[in-house]
This record gives sequence, structure tokens and C-alpha cells, in this order.
Amino acid sequence: MKTLLVANWKMNPASFKEAKALLDATRKAGDKAKQVSLVIAPPSIYLRQLRLLYKGKRIAFGAQSANAELGGAFTGDISLTQVRDAKASYILVGHAERRAAGETNADTKKKVAAALALNLTPVLCVGETTRGNSGDHFGVVAEQIKAGLDGVQKPMIKKVLIAYEPVWAIGASRPMSSRDMHEMAIFIRKTIVGMHGDVGMQMRILYGGSIDETNAAEMCTEGEVEGLLVGRASAEPRKITALIAALQAA
Ligand code: PGA
Repeated sequence: MKTLLVANWKMNPASFKEAKALLDATRKAGDKAKQVSLVIAPPSIYLRQLRLLYKGKRIAFGAQSANAELGGAFTGDISLTQVRDAKASYILVGHAERRAAGETNADTKKKVAAALALNLTPVLCVGETTRGNSGDHFGVVAEQIKAGLDGVQKPMIKKVLIAYEPVWAIGASRPMSSRDMHEMAIFIRKTIVGMHGDVGMQMRILYGGSIDETNAAEMCTEGEVEGLLVGRASAEPRKITALIAALQAA
């Protein structure tokens, strides 16, 4: 199976000119890496124009966040309907930085359901803030998954991608160990099997947090994940080129 790389540019780059250059570098690297599927989640202000500029078929686009309501008085927000109208097909739900800004499990539930209804692919981001030896992190992750998938009809469950991102490994100096990711991937599948049955075994699980060209391949092969959600290393032309090449070579 191909490795899915979701490029979360966050609030970067500073100008549309640089965003075009970054798209171009990602496109060039992606064209040489048939084993890698690409999704770019740029800042929403660049989304529609980048989508229009891109003429190929190998890159899909997504939004980093959107409101589940169809419209109304939500200053500063964009809606899922607007995301779809911009021809994006993915939506990040419950990213740690959005949760830190107040997004709740109840919000993620609404967003996942609304995204699926619009035929968008939700990437449900889950992960504990801190990790000790008590095993509490499993409880946190189970709760986030249960909430995010609550009410989703069985045939739709496997359309949701789960991105496990331990908050302490986001923006850090190194990722979580691939061994721990392997354990977490098993736990995530078990949790979903417990809720929704065998479909839990078919979920696509991604890892996110301090991935770059030096650690991406190992995380995919040893960590039992089908993809990566990448922040910093996706927002710099040189870094994303090296990262895509490393995944292709794996
Ligand atoms: P990072 O961010 O790759 O810069 O650690 C990952 C993320 O927040 O999605």
C-alpha cells in the first residue's frame, strides 16, 4: 500500500509566492515518488488558489480546520461546505493545536459527521498531552476516538483516517519511538473493533510529531502506520523534497 503523507503547513509560509514555490517543490518530489500519496493542507487563505494552480492528479488538498455549521455568525472561521467548494477533499479534525485553542471532543464528533456527509475525508487527530508510566495515555486516546467516531454509520467508519499525534512529540526534537507507535496502533485498532467491529482492522492510521527525512521510513515500517502527518518538514521546500524521497526509497 502507498504511504500517505499529509503536509500540514500550519500558518506557513508567509507569502503566497512562497506557498507556490512550496507546492512546486512538493509536486516535483511527488512526481518521482509513486509509492507516496500526498495531501497538502495549506492555510485556508491559500487553499483555493493553490488547488486551481495545481493541474496534476497526485496531490489532494485539505483544510487544517473548519466549522461544522453550514454558515452563520462565526467570525474568522471557514465552513466545511466552503472547503468542499474550494475542491479540497480532506479536513483535519481535532488537531492538537486546535484542541489547545478550545476544540472539544464534542466538536470533533460534529465535524467528523459533517465532513463525511459532504464526502470529505476527515483526519481525526488524537493524542495525549503528556505521557507518564501509568498508561493514562491509552484512556485519553480511547476517549478521543470514541467521541470522534460516535454516531458514524458502520460503512463510513473506514473513511475516517486516524492520526495519532502525541502532543509532547509535536514540534519537538524527535518523534515518539516506532516501537511505542506500533503498540499504539494495535490499541487504536482494538478500540475501534470494540466499538464498531472488524472494520477497526481496516482503519488507516497515521503518525504525526517531529517527522522528517531521517525518521519517516522507520516510523512507517516499524510503527505499523500507513501514513504520516507532518508539520515543519512539510513547510520547507528542501525538507519536503528529502522527506518524500526517503519514503519512496523505503
Ligand atoms: P511537526 O508537527 O511535524 O512540526 O512536529 C506535526 C503536526 O502538528 O501535525
